[in-house]
Amino acid sequence: MIDAHCHLTVYGDKIERAIKDIEDTNMVVIAVSSDFATFHETESCIHESDCIIPSFGIHPKVAPHHKNRLDEIYQEVVSAGVIGEIGLDNKGAFDESILNAQKKVFESILEAACEYDKTVNVHCAGAEREVLSILETYNPAGVILHGYEGPVESLSRVIDNDFMISIGRGILQEFKDRNPLWKRTREIAEHTPYDLLLVESDIPVVNPLTMPSELISELIEELSIIRKETAIEITAQTKRNLRQVLSSTAGMQKYCEKLRIVKSE
Ligand SMILES: [Zn+2]
Repeated sequence: MIDAHCHLTVYGDKIERAIKDIEDTNMVVIAVSSDFATFHETESCIHESDCIIPSFGIHPKVAPHHKNRLDEIYQEVVSAGVIGEIGLDNKGAFDESILNAQKKVFESILEAACEYDKTVNVHCAGAEREVLSILETYNPAGVILHGYEGPVESLSRVIDNDFMISIGRGILQEFKDRNPLWKRTREIAEHTPYDLLLVESDIPVVNPLTMPSELISELIEELSIIRKETAIEITAQTKRNLRQVLSSTAGMQKYCEKLRIVKSE
């Protein structure tokens, strides 16, 4: 199995248990970060694991606090394997100055990511059209749209660009009454092309003690009902797709090799 967007540090003092679960179940996980501290914490915990890819990002919600640290950010982008979580967030009805600061950080990271052919893991809540326009302008080597909840009509634009769509646990039945976009997220999950489909745990807010493999298994079961595909097919295809999106990024050989072995798990 894969997890295209996992906040490993959320496990806190259970992080070793979560890493063991990932290793034992032979997963490949992109461990995204939200700032310098979470990136360094992730890096120091995973000990060169060939299952966990540390990913450097400045989350849009904290981006305004980082707008004067662009030189340091550039250095981290150059050295990191994968980039994210980055992007824009307009869900909290922010004012213009906050959005502009988010954009400044997002675009400067994208510029460096493009220069060094990095795959980017992108957050776009409430700002889907704007994020798509910016990504089309910069055209990074690989794009993973995380938790995409944009209008279903925009899906064709995402598909035309070959951006990967990472489906999260918001599609689960338990979110029916809690997520106003529940129906839409399930429609997106249903209509995402087979070759652009990824899965992710994001922040395991429901129960932080649930291990990564359990979160992804549960998600794949629900996806198999929505898409009328077997869990084995989805597991194998999402591995192929992650391999595909990582193959353009330098330093990903050991993960790509692991993802090459597609078999029923
Ligand atoms: Zn996230």
